[in-house]
Amino acid sequence: GVNPLNVCAISVVALPEARVLPLTPGLADDLFEHDGQITKRDVRALTLSALAPRRGETLWDVGAGSGSVAIEWMLADPGLRAVAIEADPERAARISRNATLFGVPDLKITIGTAPEALEGLEPPHAIFIGGGGSDPGVLDAAIVALRPGGRLVANAVTLELEALLLAHHARLGGSLTRIEIARADAIGSMTGWRPAMPITQWVWSK
Ligand code: SAH
Repeated sequence: GVNPLNVCAISVVALPEARVLPLTPGLADDLFEHDGQITKRDVRALTLSALAPRRGETLWDVGAGSGSVAIEWMLADPGLRAVAIEADPERAARISRNATLFGVPDLKITIGTAPEALEGLEPPHAIFIGGGGSDPGVLDAAIVALRPGGRLVANAVTLELEALLLAHHARLGGSLTRIEIARADAIGSMTGWRPAMPITQWVWSK
């Protein structure tokens, strides 16, 4: 017969290594495995805001580094998709580990150099250029591939890329934002503002 006392005991154990992630973009840099080449959390939060993910959309993260931008894009909603394009195979392997760690194993990783590596990818609704932006043809390939209504966000630290972004802004419009961040840091026994290099961000809607 059937056991009338169908008792079921469930115990929930919080693993010591479990990570509880905040819901908003701009997660702490140290949550990601990285080699120093990572878009810092404050700049990343502004970047995700400019990329403005909407349900079901796809992002290209060009020069993805640690994958932090693509991962935060995917964390914003379960239906969001992303492709991380990264020239360095070691960094590409790191992106894969980070994607697993953050529970977004569906992040697609393309190992290769833009613009060639962009050929044949499904046209995206948003593109972030975090690396390779001053390589010939990268910005223009992104502009062509972007779907109508899509957003392109490029962050320049170097004057070379900044000059390119200013020229594109003059031709195509969009908005330019200068991001200057300083963090309090030790100066001997005292504390002072240590500025990070300024970033010029171009945001353009197609
Ligand atoms: N946004 C990233 C950091 C990017 S660092 C993060 O938050 O982790 C810039 C990256 O661009 C580097 O990893 C570099 O290998 C990659 N890169 C540079 N030129 C590239 C190109 N033409 N195509 C693909 N990747 C490129």
